[in-house]
Amino acid sequence: MYRLNPQETLAVTRAAEVADRTIAPLAAQIDEQARFPSESVSALAEAGLFGLTVPTEFGGQGAGLRAAAAVLDTVAQRCPSTAMVYLMHLCGIACYKANPHVASEALRAAARGEHLSTLAWSEMGSRSHFWAPVSKAEPQGDAVRLRAEKSWVTSAGHADGYVVTTGTAEGGIDLYLLQKDDAGLEVAGPWNALGMRGTASAPMRLAGVEAGSDRRLSEPGQAFGMMMGHVLPQFQTGNAAVSIGAAESAVRATAGHLTGQGFEHLGTKLADLPNLRHRLAAMRIETDKARALLAATFDALESEDPGAMLLVLESKAMAADTALLVTDLAMRACGGAAFSRHLGVERVFRDARAMSVMAPTSDVLHDFVGKALCGMELFS
Ligand SMILES: Cc1cc2nc3c(=O)[nH]c(=O)nc-3n(C[C@H](O)[C@H](O)[C@H](O)COP(=O)(O)OP(=O)(O)OC[C@H]3O[C@@H](n4cnc5c(N)ncnc54)[C@H](O)[C@@H]3O)c2cc1C
Repeated sequence: MYRLNPQETLAVTRAAEVADRTIAPLAAQIDEQARFPSESVSALAEAGLFGLTVPTEFGGQGAGLRAAAAVLDTVAQRCPSTAMVYLMHLCGIACYKANPHVASEALRAAARGEHLSTLAWSEMGSRSHFWAPVSKAEPQGDAVRLRAEKSWVTSAGHADGYVVTTGTAEGGIDLYLLQKDDAGLEVAGPWNALGMRGTASAPMRLAGVEAGSDRRLSEPGQAFGMMMGHVLPQFQTGNAAVSIGAAESAVRATAGHLTGQGFEHLGTKLADLPNLRHRLAAMRIETDKARALLAATFDALESEDPGAMLLVLESKAMAADTALLVTDLAMRACGGAAFSRHLGVERVFRDARAMSVMAPTSDVLHDFVGKALCGMELFS
């Protein structure tokens, strides 16, 4: 459905190989132990996928959003946690690409598979409204001192590069690239969540981190445009792809269960029950609809359709709703077998709940789409 060119297809084939060989076999254990999927993430790096969207002049493959989504979908079908870690890496790369002068070393390292990135945007004070950081950078000559309570940072303590937001004294927003060893950059708590348990999306504290202007990714105070123009399309479409991958995984597990299990005393399969077939069909239709909308979003973006940004907003909201619906249908279609852990359905049911609360949340996206349709300012 993504209609990939041969180079993009190659990237997805490589991702599928890594996913089948390394990522899928570890997914249940990672969830159970709530541990970071280091082996899975290293396997993606070794397959060259850290550099998927890095421009070719920095050693990467220069792929776009379409290929990134297809890879994320493929990985999420095996392990949504690993896919989420990879998505946040791709979002960090989107920031680096917007200012390659500051991030050239990080881009090259990512292309070599030696640099994992992430975003540290959400703050305790402004919660899911990441576009309104309450932290204020303290000027120190040409540098700044950063103090902030970041509420959720995927790959916290595992990433090499952290793209952090901070408010400025003048009321703008800046983006800085912090490195894992920067003094004052601390993981501030554990990550023990309902789902996406392998993402290490822990709180982080910026306890007076000093950052020079050579670390600033945005023009002074002007990060908002970069966040919306460069990062939002990557985050939105990639997050949609993770939702779709999670839904796909539920469709496949359900089809396998319905055709593989039955009633010995009746000599029938679960698939002989029309209500279960109906649920499975609904799951397939909803998943296909979300993937088709995402593919249409890429068509609109690539043809510079004026309605493309509306589709970018819609695609994440729809895919997140789809993941919730489809995984819920899977739980009901597979009965007690889904309630137990062996099918893996309850794991994606839990993982699927993350995407709709990741900012911009589904509530906020519906508000944005409604405002756009009414000709209103989105951030008013
Ligand atoms: C697995 C996971 C990984 C994450 N990774 C990262 C990361 O790497 N970097 C990062 O910066 N953040 C990350 N986040 C944070 C995420 O993007 C959100 O900021 C966070 O989930 C918001 O939670 P909250 O409790 O603060 O939401 P709240 O803002 O308290 O929202 C609570 C409810 O209110 C609704 N709501 C809020 N504002 C409005 C509004 N204006 N109109 C209507 N309804 C509204 C929301 O939809 C939600 O239902 C991650 C979150 C999760 C779950």
